[in-house]
Amino acid sequence: MDKITTDGLRMALLCAARQIIKSEPYLTEIDTIIGDGDHGSGMKTGFSALEELLMGQQFQSPYELLHASGLCLVRTMGGASGVLFGTLFIGGLDQLQHTDWVTAQELVSFLEKGVKAIQTRGRAGPGDKTMLDALLPAAKAMTDELERSGDISGILREAHLAALEGVEKTKAMLPRTGRSKNFREKAIGYPDPGAISVSILLQGLSEGVEQFSRGE
Ligand code: ADP
Ligand code: MG
Repeated sequence: MDKITTDGLRMALLCAARQIIKSEPYLTEIDTIIGDGDHGSGMKTGFSALEELLMGQQFQSPYELLHASGLCLVRTMGGASGVLFGTLFIGGLDQLQHTDWVTAQELVSFLEKGVKAIQTRGRAGPGDKTMLDALLPAAKAMTDELERSGDISGILREAHLAALEGVEKTKAMLPRTGRSKNFREKAIGYPDPGAISVSILLQGLSEGVEQFSRGE
């Protein structure tokens, strides 16, 4: 599949939102150990609002869909991750055309630019034990798969796998930014909650696109 319609993308986002909502207890558990414990509830609140938006409205283009989704997350989610997840959806919007579909190339450029915007906004980098340690390898995997196959399902699948590997690597990292910084060595051995959320988001998108392409 080298492109996906607005409605296909809406279904994929819906699948991702539902997986984030279901993961709330696990996200809360990890953020309670190495953060202030609000990551799970923040994600649940934001993605429940997103689910409601996606169920109740039609969108003319992926641009309109992703713009409305990003604004919804920024408005409803608290914490650092509210702004940062919103930025992921909004930072790369200029890579999209106002058509009723998005190509694999546009989707990858959109996500890459969103990740760069998170870096600019949060002033964190690789190895700081944040969501970027899942997002940066995912962006690289997407670019590689775009060149290899150009298939949207494959691109999202590879992005998910790379994000999961990134989550594993955060376990050994010392936190250098955000609230978990205060936990220092105590955070070692635990994965970063924001990075886990990124991997769940990409898993949901990947599964959602596959379900849509099978006509479910
Ligand atoms: P808060 O830290 O305000 O309580 P959350 O608990 O919702 O916000 O989110 C915490 C997650 O946000 C962390 O696990 C980390 O992945 C991410 N995060 C925090 N600060 C930054 C930053 N500057 N850049 C990138 N990600 C960050
Ligand atoms: Mg927190």
